[in-house]
Amino acid sequence: MSKAIVSTLYDSDVFRMACRQFDKAADAISLPDAIRDRTKYPRRCLAVSLPVKRQDGSVTVFEGYRVQHNLSTGPSKGGIRFHQHVTLGEVAALAMWMSWKCSLVGLPYGGAKGGVIVDPNQLSLSELEHLSRRYMQEMVNFLGPHTDVPAPDVGTNERIMGWMMDTYSNHVGHLAPAVVTGKPIALGGSQGRREATGAGVAYLVKKYLGDLKAPINKATVAIQGFGNVGSETALALSASGAKIVAISDYTGGVFNAKGIDVKKALAYLAYAKVLKDWDGGEPITNEKLLELKCTVLIPAALERVITEKNAKKLQCRVLAEAANGPTTNTADRIIDARGDIELIPDVLCNSGGVIVSYFEWLQNLSNFYWSRDEVMEKLYGILDKAKDAVDAQKRKFGFSRRLAALTLGIQRVADAKAARGLFP
Ligand code: NAD
Repeated sequence: MSKAIVSTLYDSDVFRMACRQFDKAADAISLPDAIRDRTKYPRRCLAVSLPVKRQDGSVTVFEGYRVQHNLSTGPSKGGIRFHQHVTLGEVAALAMWMSWKCSLVGLPYGGAKGGVIVDPNQLSLSELEHLSRRYMQEMVNFLGPHTDVPAPDVGTNERIMGWMMDTYSNHVGHLAPAVVTGKPIALGGSQGRREATGAGVAYLVKKYLGDLKAPINKATVAIQGFGNVGSETALALSASGAKIVAISDYTGGVFNAKGIDVKKALAYLAYAKVLKDWDGGEPITNEKLLELKCTVLIPAALERVITEKNAKKLQCRVLAEAANGPTTNTADRIIDARGDIELIPDVLCNSGGVIVSYFEWLQNLSNFYWSRDEVMEKLYGILDKAKDAVDAQKRKFGFSRRLAALTLGIQRVADAKAARGLFP
C-alpha cells in the first residue's frame, strides 16, 4: 500500500495541472500504487539566494531554483528560465514534463528545470552575466555532466549558457562543456541546436498537415511568442511555403493577412528588442491572436494560455504546443470534446530542443563533432519514431494524443523505477 503525499512545497495552479495530467495517465495505464507517487513527485530541489551588485552600486538578491524530478533513467535534463513570474511550483511542473518528454523520445535522461525570479530585460549585460554565473556557482555541487545538465529556456540563451559553462569549468579546474547544452558553437555547442526546437515543431506540423492532406503552401499560421522557439518555427514554416499571419511577444502582436515577413520582423527585433510598434502588419493582442482563424495555431510563450475561456473560440485545425503546458486541463477536455482540432502535445511537439541538446552532450563527452546535416537527419529520425509511437498508442487505446504521449513517457520512467527497486 502506498501512502500518497500531498506536496505543499510545489503547490500552485501549474503544478496541480501537471499532477492531474499524471494522475489521468497513471489511471489509464493502471500504474500500481507502489510506484505512482515515486514516479510522480520531484526527487529533490535546491533554492538559492543570488546577490548581484547593480551598476549603481546597490545589491539585489534574486531567488533561484533547480528541481530534479527524476534521476532514475539518467542525468536529469531541462532548461533554466529567467522570468519575473517564476515560482518553485512552476519549475517543478516543467521538470515533471521534461521527464515524460525525455522518456517519450527515448533519451537516457531524467527531467529537471531551473528558474530565477527576475525580468532579464531590466538587467544590464554585466548584471545578467553576474546573475548567471552566481546561479551556476550556487548549483555547482547539485549538477554536472552526469548528474543534471541545464539548457536555455524562456529568458535565457546561448550566451548565458556559455557563462554558466565557464563558471562550472573554472570551479572543477578543467573545461567541462557537457555541463550545459545550448552553448555557442565556439564553446562546444552543437550545429543545429539554436533552431532545433522550432525546426522540430515545424517538422511535426508538416507531418500532421500531411496526414490531414492539407497542403503546407495553403496553410496559415499564428504564433504566440517570438523568441527562440517561436521565431525559428516561423522561419522554418515560412521557408516551407506556409503563410505566417500573426506573431507576438510580451508587448503584443502583429497580424498580416497577406503574410508576415519573418526575416524583417527579426531584423526589427534585433534593434528594437520588442515587436511593439513594428509596422509589418496591424496590431493584435495576444488574446485575439489565439482566436484567429488559421490552419495552425502555435503557442510558443508561456503556460496556461489556452483556458476554459478561449478553448471554445479557437479556430485552428492544428494546435501545435511549442510552449510547455500552454493548455489547461479544462481547455484540453473542451478541445477533445470538439474533435475538430489535431493537438500536437508539448512533450512531443517541442522535443526537438532536448533531442539536439542530447546530441550536443554526446558530442561534448566524445569530443567528436557532427555536421548540421547529420544533426538534423538524426533529429527527424527520432521525431518520426516518437510520432508513430504516439499515434499507434492513440489508436490502440482510443486515447487523446496527449494521453497517448504521456502514458508512453510515464510508463518508461515507472518501469525503470520498478526495475531498480527501492532499498529499505
Ligand atoms: P524565449 O525567451 O526565447 O522567448 C519567449 C517569447 O515569449 C518572447 O517572444 C517573449 O516576449 C514571449 N512572451 C513572454 N511572455 C509572454 C506573454 N505573457 N504573452 C505573450 N508572449 C510572451 O523563450 P523560448 O526558449 O522561445 O521558450 C518559449 C517556450 O518554449 C517556453 O514554454 C519554453 O519552455 C518552451 N521550450 C523551449 C525550448 C528551447 O529550446 N528554448 C525547448 C522546449 C520548449
